[in-house]
Amino acid sequence: LLGALGVVVPARRFPFAFSRLARALSEVAQVSPYLKPPEPPSLAPPPEASFRVEVITPPAGLQEQANLQDFAAAYREALEDPEGFFGPFAREFFWERPWEKAYDPETRRWFQGGLTNAALNALDRHLPAKGQQVALLTLDGEGRLEKWTYRELQELSARLAGLLWDLGVRPGDRVALYMPTGAEAALALLALARIGAVHVALPVGLGPEALRERLRQSQARLLLAADGYYRRGQRVPLRPVVEAAIAGLDLPVLWHARGNTEFWERVSEAKPVDPVPVPAHHPLFLLHTSGSTGKPKGVVHGHGGYMVGVAWALRYLFDLKPGEVFHTTADLFWVVGHSFGLYAPLFLGGTTLLVEDRPDHPSPAAFYQRLARLGVDVLLTSPTLLRTLRRHGEARPTRLRLVGSVGEALSPEVWRWTRENLAWPLDNWWQTELGAPALATPLALPAKPGFVGVPLPGVEARVVDERGEVLPPGAKGHLVLLRAGPAQMVDLLGGESPWQGGLYWTGDLAVMDEEGYFRILGRSEEVIKVGEARLGTAEVEAAALTHPQVAEAAAIGVPGEEGEEIVVFVVPKQAVPEELKPLLAEKLKAHLLRHLGPVPPPRVLFAESLPRTRSGKILRRLLKAELLGLDPGDTSGLEDTYGGGKAS
Ligand code: ATP
Ligand code: MG
Repeated sequence: LLGALGVVVPARRFPFAFSRLARALSEVAQVSPYLKPPEPPSLAPPPEASFRVEVITPPAGLQEQANLQDFAAAYREALEDPEGFFGPFAREFFWERPWEKAYDPETRRWFQGGLTNAALNALDRHLPAKGQQVALLTLDGEGRLEKWTYRELQELSARLAGLLWDLGVRPGDRVALYMPTGAEAALALLALARIGAVHVALPVGLGPEALRERLRQSQARLLLAADGYYRRGQRVPLRPVVEAAIAGLDLPVLWHARGNTEFWERVSEAKPVDPVPVPAHHPLFLLHTSGSTGKPKGVVHGHGGYMVGVAWALRYLFDLKPGEVFHTTADLFWVVGHSFGLYAPLFLGGTTLLVEDRPDHPSPAAFYQRLARLGVDVLLTSPTLLRTLRRHGEARPTRLRLVGSVGEALSPEVWRWTRENLAWPLDNWWQTELGAPALATPLALPAKPGFVGVPLPGVEARVVDERGEVLPPGAKGHLVLLRAGPAQMVDLLGGESPWQGGLYWTGDLAVMDEEGYFRILGRSEEVIKVGEARLGTAEVEAAALTHPQVAEAAAIGVPGEEGEEIVVFVVPKQAVPEELKPLLAEKLKAHLLRHLGPVPPPRVLFAESLPRTRSGKILRRLLKAELLGLDPGDTSGLEDTYGGGKAS
């Protein structure tokens, strides 16, 4: 039944833009099987367009200087000849022993047979040329800015690795970390990688129960913990949480206490150790998904493919140039933080900025000032932060060249705001399981706000129905992959494999247009069934965000008289007096109906804030549970500042 409602891509209304785009993409279309012959039109007639598709070419300077020029050729080569495409790039890294096969479609393994080490490639490899270059900038919660050169990071992580070795940590052992984004956490990840141990990063904010459960599930043999962290300028103690979590467990803890030099003394006294070469698939880390749809799953990534995949994306998608400063606002202990806060910038010999406290603390103005002062060129952030910034009006000047957005759908409205206020927006879709972007709009292609873009080299994607049958362009269905890139996971704990029947089921709802651009409509399991129609949450939310008074929106479906009723939680840009709420709700309802076409009138509720995962995603299942008085299930991923059910 998915796909009963096609999304309109009104090509005929924009013939000029489409013919230009068609030319640009004709080559991609030849090599990609996006354009399968359309199936018989068994679909219901499409409704009114829920948004107008615009096609926007990146500024000439940006496009001409882009690290990746010929996208179509790259895409074709990566699929036809993975060795020829990824091989030369992978050989920029140090391999103790070369791989036998770049990609094996049978096992879906990358760089099988190769021996390497991610920490060696992040640090030691750069010492001859870049020892004195700043690798890492850290801004802690007390406002202290520190610079760390490649040599310093290499030296300190080698010693910390020595200390861990002395504590009995060996290759393959899992070691848990519970500390905020910052230098100590970065060094700990690199030290563990160095000796082939597996880091299990557990984000601060997890309560004692969730922490205990993850420590047990991961079978960690040691815990590295910080005694506190800063959130919005306030120090939050962690020692009581850790002590409650490990009560009765036989788990040693190595503490980092702020303002106390003991940790650093122990590090500096330890003997540095050399990196341990490990097979490409040797686990580098275990990391949990955000828990948006249920209990977080434990995802395992390896050294070899991950290294190549994330570094490729940073150079050729996010277009980082030598000497530039990269920053992601993501927590270091979420996949975006692992891949782009730390590993990819170091793999490329770049400079990355890590910030402990919230990006917009104490204000959006401070965020812009920080970007300008530290000379950040490329930013990777989330739609949540972009919506927050937008709510506060115009941005201040920075030197940003490009703004990546990941984690949730980037609505056309927020895309435009970013374009006008910050820099060129680059939407990218991926998952913890994939390690690096799978769908995005590289600079070589024009952008269509609202569409995340096309599959990247190494990735094949389709939209299918429940049975896995490919749907024609314009039909809604499940987003699946036929092939995933080098950074894909090597193992999964506590969850069913997403690979079923030869397809990787992403769990997301999507639609693909005639040119192979994908629009992510929301989660498949959160699809709202109104009458015959199937609406993705992102569709409804994007429509709400076009209203000038809406800062944030979350859509859910609740049982109604005919199918489901659409309920939209709205955070207004400015507080609405109680007596004006009914009027604004009516206006929003009419606005939504204009944008969504023939659906029963949605219910509009106002909220002060929305429940989010720590990675910044709206937790719709919690809104639903609160509204219906149901059990919300596992909420261990919930951001700890959420006040709870205040919708009216
Ligand atoms: P869980 O798997 O535990 O339910 P999660 O899927 O939110 O949590 P992540 O791996 O952090 O955990 O997030 C991946 C998901 O985030 C994607 O499946 C997709 O739903 C959403 N997502 C990521 N990037 C984008 C994007 N650019 N546009 C739309 N959705 C996105
Ligand atoms: Mg997921």
